[in-house]
Amino acid sequence: MEGYSFELITGPMSCGKTEELLRRIRRCIIAKKKVKVISPDVDTRTKGDYIESRSGLWLDAIKVKHSMNILNVVKPDDEVIAIDELQFFDANIVKVITKLMNEGKKIIGTGLELDFKAEPFGSMPELMCIATRVDKLQAVCMKCGCEHATRTQRLIDGKPADKNSPLIMIGGDETYEARCVKCYELPDAQHDKMKSRLRVLPFSFK
Ligand SMILES: [Zn+2]
Repeated sequence: MEGYSFELITGPMSCGKTEELLRRIRRCIIAKKKVKVISPDVDTRTKGDYIESRSGLWLDAIKVKHSMNILNVVKPDDEVIAIDELQFFDANIVKVITKLMNEGKKIIGTGLELDFKAEPFGSMPELMCIATRVDKLQAVCMKCGCEHATRTQRLIDGKPADKNSPLIMIGGDETYEARCVKCYELPDAQHDKMKSRLRVLPFSFK
C-alpha cells in the first residue's frame, strides 16, 4: 500500500535533501498520484511559491505559516503530501503529519536535523521518531573536502558565528556551509569574554 507512510529525508545544509524530495515527487507524478507540495512561509527566505534544489530543479509549492493550516491546504483526494524544510514549522507539525498518515496519505518530508549550534532543530527529533523511513544524507565538507559532512556551519562575515547568535537571523549577511565533525567550529564569544575578564581581575590565592 502506498499510503500510511512518512518518509523523512534529513541531513545538513547542501546534502541534496530537496533534490531527493523532487526526485521522489517526480516518481509519484509519473505514477499519476495526486501530489501536493508545501513549504513553510519563513521571513528569512525571499523565495516565491515554489521549492528549489541547489542544482536548479524546482516545483510549485504552497507556502504555509502555521502547521495546522496544512490541514486546510490538503484536500481529500490528495494522495501524496510533500513538505520541505520541516524544521521551520511549529510543534503542531508532529500532530498534523500523524493525522495525515492516519488518513492514508503518503507524506514525504525534508528537514535540517541540527541547527548551526549542532543542536536538534525544531520538531525534527519527534518527526524522525514517527517517520516510517528516515534517510540521513551527508554533504561534502566545505573545509576539508571529505564526503561526510553532517553539520551546518554558520559564518558571519566569513568567520564561524558564535553560539549566542540568534537561531533564525533575518536580513543578516550570514552564510552557511556543510562541514564534517572535525572541521565544524562553534566559538563561544560570551564565554571567551568572561575568561578574558577573569584574567584581568587581580586574583591572588597566596
Ligand atoms: Zn571537514
